[in-house]
Amino acid sequence: MSARALSGPLGVREMSRALSRIASFVGRTPERLAVSRIAAREDPFHVLTATIISLRTRDEVTDVAAPRLLSVAPTPAALAATPEARIARLIYPAGFYRTKARTLRALARVLVEEHGGRVPHTLDELLALHGVGRKTANLVVTLGHGRPGICVDTHVHRICNRLGFVRTRHPDETEAVLRQRLPRRWWIPINDVLVAFGRGHCTPLSPRCSTCPVLDLCHRVGVGRSR
Ligand code: SF4
Repeated sequence: MSARALSGPLGVREMSRALSRIASFVGRTPERLAVSRIAAREDPFHVLTATIISLRTRDEVTDVAAPRLLSVAPTPAALAATPEARIARLIYPAGFYRTKARTLRALARVLVEEHGGRVPHTLDELLALHGVGRKTANLVVTLGHGRPGICVDTHVHRICNRLGFVRTRHPDETEAVLRQRLPRRWWIPINDVLVAFGRGHCTPLSPRCSTCPVLDLCHRVGVGRSR
């Protein structure tokens, strides 16, 4: 597979064009993230809970485990009152379900005792909560509260680097660059769009470049074998 010779970093306009094409490309597939489906309920607590369950867990499992827990404990107060062993049973077989049960219950108690039973809406307040990392905090800000934020996970980090829009080594650096360069309208949807694209097309190993909708724009940085 030979790529078109491209010079310089991908510009803002080209990045918007690439994301528009990728969004319509993945829009033709039925895949949607379990967390995004739950986010459609517009409840930050549900987004927070589902995101923690989804870490290191297959989407199909999150899709069942998160609604099962949330049907029993739909609020921080209800979750704080649910025994840890029951939470673990409800979210099984999510990865690290026992640890997550402990984290979720402790989080619920902090939300009740220190935040009036509400999920904070700022990154700093969310990051101060035990068990909440940047990915989770950004998803809660964007999908739960509908506020500006950029959730950079492994797919967003990899694809933004391959495209040539950023040149970074760590997702946190990617987030910082995207906050400076990415047009606001893409801040919230970029995660959903690139996660779907990264799972089905621009995969970690051997991406499907020959049928890619943005092959003509992509710098294919660091891409070796491809299909
Ligand atoms: Fe670039 Fe290939 Fe990924 Fe498409 S599939 S974005 S051409 S690396």
